[in-house]
Amino acid sequence: MHTRVAIIGSGPAGLTAALYAARASLAPLVIRGLQPGGLIATTSEVENYPGFVHGIGGFELADNIEQQAKRFGAEYRDTLITSIDASSRPFKLLTDDGDVITADTVIVSTGASPRKLDVPGEDRLANRGVSYCATCDGFFFRDKRAVVVGGGNSALDEGLFLTRFVTELVIVHRRDSLRADQILQDRAMSNPKVRFIWDSAVEEILGENNVTGVKIRNLKTGELSDLPTEGVFPYIGHTPNTKIFNGLLTLDENGYIAADAHQRTNIPGIFAAGDVVDHVYRQAITAAGEGCKASMEAVWYLAAQDYADQLKVTAAN
Ligand code: NAP
Repeated sequence: MHTRVAIIGSGPAGLTAALYAARASLAPLVIRGLQPGGLIATTSEVENYPGFVHGIGGFELADNIEQQAKRFGAEYRDTLITSIDASSRPFKLLTDDGDVITADTVIVSTGASPRKLDVPGEDRLANRGVSYCATCDGFFFRDKRAVVVGGGNSALDEGLFLTRFVTELVIVHRRDSLRADQILQDRAMSNPKVRFIWDSAVEEILGENNVTGVKIRNLKTGELSDLPTEGVFPYIGHTPNTKIFNGLLTLDENGYIAADAHQRTNIPGIFAAGDVVDHVYRQAITAAGEGCKASMEAVWYLAAQDYADQLKVTAAN
């Protein structure tokens, strides 16, 4: 099948791109991928997406944008793209069920996945005390205790955000020094709610239906101990979902797609938006904004191509 705009990924970036391309009568095709709705769809409550006075469920938010784009002609397909051939136009997108989709433009919005601790209890207690988004879920930990794992900017930044709500924040880090910026270190060290456990790893997340604690191993002594807590926020980095673009699109040193301020990649006609590009803000609203920009750029790119084609036909006649 052929589409004028193929959108890979269906988080806020991809769905917003679909909405704008659909309203430009381009009938975009959204390839939904492994996580329909993106990471936001796995968040129980979104209270910082503008326009929803009383918040909105993450799944509902993604579903709403999907339906909104569908109303204007966006189409959806549940498949995975395994490779892109950009050696000639249109682009050829190979799917995991063996189909080839041809596309005049491509918007990549495959997102990034939070790196997991990979310990017992983590998957079972996801959204039951285990969260990868303090900004989204911090409010639910009012007057509770929380543990953040990691020693980078995200761990400290998001941990400090959590101190607005929690009675105590314990930061568990595998070394005895932090990688986070000094200003964040200073703020965390001087915050009376913050306590550090150094040289330690979380080995298990405890609890039946909700998180009740973590099992911690001191990596120097090997000693095991249980720490009671209601929340666990692993901040041990994100992995951008860019494996299939390796060798095709320019990636930065952390594997994120290098896109300019217009969401353009190194290949004309391929744009990128959302968490697959952004490792700083990582918010649904910023992803949606980038999706909007990428889509408008794709529309303008196609209009310029169409005009150039028209000129060629006129010249040939
Ligand atoms: P990061 O800088 O890569 O830090 C990840 C942290 O997790 C490190 O402290 C690392 O420990 C630890 N870690 C990694 N794997 C682990 C594992 N398996 N078990 C336990 N701990 C593990 O990632 P990030 O904090 O998400 O930041 C990503 C990027 O966004 C960075 O460039 C950062 O500067 C930027 N950012 C900036 C801000 C800001 O400026 N306010 C806020 C958020 C993010 P080690 O230190 O021992 O390696």
